[in-house]
Amino acid sequence: AHEEIDLKRFIRHVPDFPKPGILFYDISTLMRNPDAWQLAMGRLARQVAPLKPDLLAAVESRGFLTAAPLADRLGCGLLMLRKCGKLPGETISHTYDLEYGSDTLEIQADAIQPGQRVVVMDDLLATGGTLAASVALLRKAGANVVGASVMVELTSLGGRNKVDAPVSTLLTYK
Ligand code: 5GP
Repeated sequence: AHEEIDLKRFIRHVPDFPKPGILFYDISTLMRNPDAWQLAMGRLARQVAPLKPDLLAAVESRGFLTAAPLADRLGCGLLMLRKCGKLPGETISHTYDLEYGSDTLEIQADAIQPGQRVVVMDDLLATGGTLAASVALLRKAGANVVGASVMVELTSLGGRNKVDAPVSTLLTYK
């Protein structure tokens, strides 16, 4: 019965959030339904398992929500890519351009043993800026980035072309 659930039904579309003219794809409504959430995590696990990751890299903050249950299912480690100034100890950072201004992601400098297989995870791929920056940061930290995984991809923005790693997605929207 699980396989018949259309997961798209559980993604809420919120017009004009966070700014006028932006259509926001809200995963909260998927997460709060236990059957839909279990199904989504099972499908993600089947997509990511063949990549045989040593670690999942979770992008703050909605990436934390998908990467944590997936690392548990796959029996691999979990690390955080966080906004500036949140991680204790020595960090490596990567600054990237946004439509207006820039943003910085950080990783703990000792998070990855050289050559470890890492899959980066976020909830959604739009322009690809966040995932591209995440891949670059992970490489700086010594990772062998074997893939990127998101639940939702907005395909018309062409974001996956910016990401220098194979991207797998559960649900796509034009
Ligand atoms: P990108 O960098 O690919 O343009 O944007 C993706 C990042 O912004 C992700 O970290 C994602 O969480 C967030 N994001 C952008 N648009 C949406 C959206 O419509 N829904 C959700 N849930 N996240 C979004």
